[in-house]
Amino acid sequence: MGTTVAPDRSRLRVLVVEDDDTIGRHLEAGLRSNGYAPTWSRTGASALTEAVRTPYNAVLLDLGLPDLDGVELARALRTRYPDLLIVILTARTDDIDVIAGLDAGADDYLVKPFSLTVLLARLRAHLRRRTGTAPARPLRLGDLVVDAGARRCSLHGIDVPLRPKEFELLALLGRHAGQAVSRETLMAEVWDENWFGSTKTLDVTMASLRRRLTETAQTVPRPAHLPRITTLRGHGYRLER
Ligand code: CA
Repeated sequence: MGTTVAPDRSRLRVLVVEDDDTIGRHLEAGLRSNGYAPTWSRTGASALTEAVRTPYNAVLLDLGLPDLDGVELARALRTRYPDLLIVILTARTDDIDVIAGLDAGADDYLVKPFSLTVLLARLRAHLRRRTGTAPARPLRLGDLVVDAGARRCSLHGIDVPLRPKEFELLALLGRHAGQAVSRETLMAEVWDENWFGSTKTLDVTMASLRRRLTETAQTVPRPAHLPRITTLRGHGYRLER
């Protein structure tokens, strides 16, 4: 990735929303000893109060909270703070929970038990990406316009509501239109270059990206030409010219 500059982590505030004492304490200590400024909330209500009081860079959000539904909390935070990094922590391995959380606006998720090292790598990757790079020129893919500078994707002038990862996935494939892009490259560029875990999150994000594009195409007033994304079995994906 070359010239990316690590953000000054000493100033990055992380809100930990977790009712489990052991996990909460572990996360708080781990974040603090790695240069972040963590705040630990044990309930959804106190997390909302805290988020209003202090601007946070990231929220680590346990889905199973005693008072509020974690998915609803993710949605509320996303609505109020469009740029906030939201990472869901879930003990449930059910895809449904993960998908509901991502649909509610979370950027990523980790399934418990996870290692602190992996969590820190994910945080670094997400936060580094958010510190911004030079804006690229808008891409035109069929009737779709992908403007990385404005972080906007539109079809016949109508916004396609994409989550951050869906947007980055589309933009990356679009920049390499007509070429095969491997799963490894997508994971490295869109997620974390240091992350060698499961690539299931890529499939989930791709399915959701395709669905959102199709759904938006059905709502625009005139027929729309969407770029086709071909699945290359055992390799990756190719966005057709
Ligand atoms: Ca819990």
